[in-house]
Amino acid sequence: MIALSLAEIAAVVGGQTHDIPDTSVQVTGPVVRDSREVVPGTLFVAFVGERVDGHDFAAQVVEAGAVAVLASRPVGVPAIVVDDVQEALGALARHVVERLGATLVALTGSAGKTSTKDLIAQVLGGKAPTVFTPGSLNNEIGLPLTALSATEETKFLVLEMGARGIGHIRYLAGLTPPKVGLVLNVGSAHIGEFGGREQIAQAKGELVESLPSAADGGAAILNADDPLVRAMASRTKAKVVLFGESAEADVRAENVRLTDSGQPSFRLHTPSGASDVTMRLYGEHHVSNALAAAAVAHELGMSATEIATALSGAGTLSRWRMEVTERPDGVTIVNDAYNANPESMRAALRALVAMGKGRRTWAVLGKMAELGDEALAEHDAVGRLAVRLNVSKLVAVGGIEASWLQLGAYNEGSWGEESVHVSDAQAAIDLLRKQLRPGDVVLVKASRSVGLESVAQTLAEAG
Ligand code: ATP
Ligand code: MG
Repeated sequence: MIALSLAEIAAVVGGQTHDIPDTSVQVTGPVVRDSREVVPGTLFVAFVGERVDGHDFAAQVVEAGAVAVLASRPVGVPAIVVDDVQEALGALARHVVERLGATLVALTGSAGKTSTKDLIAQVLGGKAPTVFTPGSLNNEIGLPLTALSATEETKFLVLEMGARGIGHIRYLAGLTPPKVGLVLNVGSAHIGEFGGREQIAQAKGELVESLPSAADGGAAILNADDPLVRAMASRTKAKVVLFGESAEADVRAENVRLTDSGQPSFRLHTPSGASDVTMRLYGEHHVSNALAAAAVAHELGMSATEIATALSGAGTLSRWRMEVTERPDGVTIVNDAYNANPESMRAALRALVAMGKGRRTWAVLGKMAELGDEALAEHDAVGRLAVRLNVSKLVAVGGIEASWLQLGAYNEGSWGEESVHVSDAQAAIDLLRKQLRPGDVVLVKASRSVGLESVAQTLAEAG
């Protein structure tokens, strides 16, 4: 972070200083909420959680080198006390971002935010110092903490924004106002909470509404292949840059195919030229993510060749997303257990089939959460798709949703032993341990709450 004195921080957040002998002492960073991350120079942010109260760690973090605590009550050690710690953190982030020379890039969407954020970070990072959201810390706490980790050297700040409802993205974009805003897609993630796709589009479109005008350098990067995203062009003053496979896209892919190992390959076209890309990531859904990243990089001055080279070299930065392990016995485990929604389930099944050409393929799947009224139909559809794609074996893991997956497969026909329903992760592990043969490819995927990564990890180590 950029160095700030405690007096300046107190002024920015409208806080009272307590137990601070010298307010000219500087916070040199980082700003953290986890006591285990404290190093000398830290500002520790004390949140009151359901189980732990950050204020209880005040003495300990100061002992470990924290300069002060941002707190909602005096704690007996140096503290800046405010009414609302979260709001203060946001105000501080906004203040710091305004002083940085960095270009802010924000992205949102229903699926692929983290994957695309990681791609953008790797492409831009090859050109200039880039700070980006670690993992999926995309809410009102993770976002300011990430922004505050930028330094004077930072040229690009890439921020993932998750939308939980109307007004949420507007709030996040207010904390760290982006110059470039990217909307990936409007799918059915969190549809239960939102009430429908139109509402999701309404919420995500707030990102492009927040952008500066084209004259002031604002750029809205929109998915030409997704009608609800494409339509957001009318909601922004920023320059609109379209990406996708459709002919009207400014940044396009042609000759898209999957290599025999399931990695997408295509010719990238940008307004400044064309170049070939073969990705290291698995699954055709990454074409869209790569085009989004390419459109951002193009807008920020990179050439088609620079972008294509960077995309071809980019790997996974975040765990459990199509993470491939080749076991010594020739079994391939694909751990995509980070999360799941209908779009990502379909993309992952197609990737499994491409990777598993001529081999026996297993889909070990669990429930997709937060689908509201669409839950039954969506699980049924995924089960059916597994059959239509000729996946060799479906193992549905968990409760009622898993039985819908299996029933969908069964009703699509010709299924007896090829689709089974097991109660939990351990039962899936036991079954696969018995039945896996050399050459098999196993995809493991479900919503975060199911925790299927234990299946993928156990199987990956079992070879
Ligand atoms: P979260 O809301 O949990 O932060 P996210 O939007 O950041 O999710 P990722 O973590 O990148 O998304 O990916 C989540 C899942 O979606 C993964 O299983 C991934 O394989 C899949 N996925 C990634 N990109 C796309 C895409 N463009 N379309 C559909 N599915 C995708
Ligand atoms: Mg994410």
